[in-house]
Amino acid sequence: MADPGDPRDVLAAAARLFYDRGWMWGTAGNLSLLLADGTFWITASGKAKGRLTAADFLRIAPGGEVVERGRADDRPSAETSLHDAVYRQFPQAGACFHVHSIPGNVAARLTTGDDLRLPPLEMLKGLGVWDQDPDISLAVFPNHLHVPRIAQELLARFTAAPPRVPGFLIRDHGLTTWGRDAEAALHHVELFEYVFGYIAAARRAGLDA
Ligand SMILES: [Zn+2]
Repeated sequence: MADPGDPRDVLAAAARLFYDRGWMWGTAGNLSLLLADGTFWITASGKAKGRLTAADFLRIAPGGEVVERGRADDRPSAETSLHDAVYRQFPQAGACFHVHSIPGNVAARLTTGDDLRLPPLEMLKGLGVWDQDPDISLAVFPNHLHVPRIAQELLARFTAAPPRVPGFLIRDHGLTTWGRDAEAALHHVELFEYVFGYIAAARRAGLDA
């Protein structure tokens, strides 16, 4: 049984919420939370995201080594390298959430390039954009089978040009976003999912969004 206030309980609660909203169906997606010593808790691979317990997480050192696991045969998420890259690239990030939603995948399909233009919605303020008439794009990466290759590409791209919003899409796969803590990362998932839903609805309505 985890201690009260255990970050694994915070992550399990967030996963239940995302599962209930249809953004984390089955075992898809993964959540992590950084600790003061630089290690992070992340969901173990292959766990049902609507029913996580504290035993369903592993603690990872920077670079990817497992330093603690709930069960002997558990493996870290296949996408641990993405979380490791986010914490390396963005020192202000304290939590990183990755979901597979239908609106996110539809939105990524509406661009053929490596950027998705975001509509100038009020909601962008929640993602840190306070420009008048914002002209903001979200990075879109190809979905390589070998996930560390995606991590390498995001480190190269975001080192050359830091993103204006705390997130990126992997085409035909899903959203990764981060925040200073779990609550901020959760808000960012909700805001991005709102924007993706808007983009798809605007396209259906024939709007040039
Ligand atoms: Zn994924």
